[in-house]
Amino acid sequence: MRMLHGFSDNKYEFLSNFYACDTFYKNDIDPEGYVYKTAEHAFQAAKATSIEDMRYVADAHTPGDAKRRGRMIKLRPDWESIKDNVMLTILRSKFSDDQDMYSRMMATVSEYDAFCEDNWWHDNYWGDCHCPKCEKIFGRNRLGILLTQVRDELIHEYIGRTKDEQRTETPVSEKD
Ligand SMILES: [Zn+2]
Repeated sequence: MRMLHGFSDNKYEFLSNFYACDTFYKNDIDPEGYVYKTAEHAFQAAKATSIEDMRYVADAHTPGDAKRRGRMIKLRPDWESIKDNVMLTILRSKFSDDQDMYSRMMATVSEYDAFCEDNWWHDNYWGDCHCPKCEKIFGRNRLGILLTQVRDELIHEYIGRTKDEQRTETPVSEKD
């Protein structure tokens, strides 16, 4: 298994949620949706219980600020049970709406089978921290797993489309 460990390399930083990329997200609080500056902005805004708080997070200048604002707002009571699904929805939007993101994601297929968000900031839920303190903690790598899932979905869509195109290209029936 060829595993990409961490997204700090220039070539792969687009996989990070901090990467600047217009990302659309809507939910029950904001049914019309909004285009966020990064996937991180969208994810942090999704924690909110009001549209005002969502916009407050959206207005953050950097993804780091968005993360801090996400900690300051009132958290949705169901957050723990929905957060993985929220992340998946956001990643789907990030990598299918933007042609550049889509192409770069698809280009990873020839190099890596899966992604792991190796980190040094003690995140063992979304990633896998490699600091001495976290050595014995199992990193769940939920972000890496969801990124790999989204890529698999895009590949299957691509294959499905290609097959449809081949079908429509087949010569018309011999009857006429
Ligand atoms: Zn650590």
